[in-house]
Amino acid sequence: NTHLKLDGLAKSYGNFIAVEEFSLDICEGEFIAIMGPSGCGKTTSLRMLAGLETADRGEITLAGKRIDQLPVWERETPMVWQSLALFPFMTVRENVEFGLQMRGVARAERRRRADDWLERLGISTYADRNVARLSGGQRQRVALARSLVLEPKVLLLDEPLSALDAHMAIKMQGELKKLQRELGITFVYVTHSHSEAFSLADRVVIMNLGKVEQIGSPQDIFLRP
Ligand code: ADP
Ligand code: ADP
Repeated sequence: NTHLKLDGLAKSYGNFIAVEEFSLDICEGEFIAIMGPSGCGKTTSLRMLAGLETADRGEITLAGKRIDQLPVWERETPMVWQSLALFPFMTVRENVEFGLQMRGVARAERRRRADDWLERLGISTYADRNVARLSGGQRQRVALARSLVLEPKVLLLDEPLSALDAHMAIKMQGELKKLQRELGITFVYVTHSHSEAFSLADRVVIMNLGKVEQIGSPQDIFLRP
C-alpha cells in the first residue's frame, strides 16, 4: 500500500533542469535511500517533498491526499538539514521545543517530549546551552531531535549523519532503524554513504542527471555485478 506517492516531479531553474522526472511509490514505514553523484537532483527532490520548492510538474500524495499544494507546516513531512537551520540564539531545548510550541502544545508537555528526545540522542547535558556553542555533531543531533519530537509520519533527511564521528553515526543509524520499527515512520534519506544505505534502506534509488536511474534493494543495487 502506497503511503507517499511521487508522480512525475520536475523542477528547472531557468533553463537548467535540476530534476527532469521523479516518480516513486513509497510504502508506509519504508526506508528509502536516495544516492547519486553531486548535482543529480537529490536535494531538489527532497525540497519538493518538504514543500520548500514548488514542482514545475507532477503530484505528491500522502495517504491519498494531495500535499504538493499545502504549505510546509501542513505537510507533516519535516526535513532534517545537512546545513542545519537551527536558531543560533536559542538554547538546545528551546530549539527542540519550537515546533511543538508552533503547534500549540502546552508547556509541560513540550518540555517532557523535548527532554525525552534530548535524552535519547545523548544531548541532555547541553539542554540549556546556546546552539551556537555546540560542535557540528552536537548540532546535527539537535536538528534530528527537533524533527523527531514532532513524531512525523514522514521524515526527510539530507545527509543527517555526515558531521558525526563514526561511533555516533553508527549509534544514530540504530536510532533511526528503531524509529522505523517502533513508530512506523517513512524515511526518505539522501546519502553518499554506501554503508549507510546498505544498513538502513529497504530500497535504494539511484539518481543521475535529474532522473531515477535504478531502484532496488541494497542487495540488488550494490552486490549484483
Ligand atoms: P544534489 O543534491 O544531487 O547534489 P541538487 O538537487 O542540490 O543536487 O542540485 C541539482 C542541480 O540543480 C545542481 O546542478 C544545482 O547546482 C542546481 N540547483 C539547485 N538549486 C538551485 C537553485 N536554487 N538555483 C539554480 N540552480 C540550482
Ligand atoms: P547539497 O550538497 O546538500 O546537495 P548544496 O550545498 O549543493 O546542497 O546546495 C545547498 C542549497 O543551495 C540547495 O538547497 C540549493 O537549492 C541551493 N543551490 C544549489 N546550487 C545552486 C545554484 N547553482 N544556484 C542557486 N542555488 C543553488
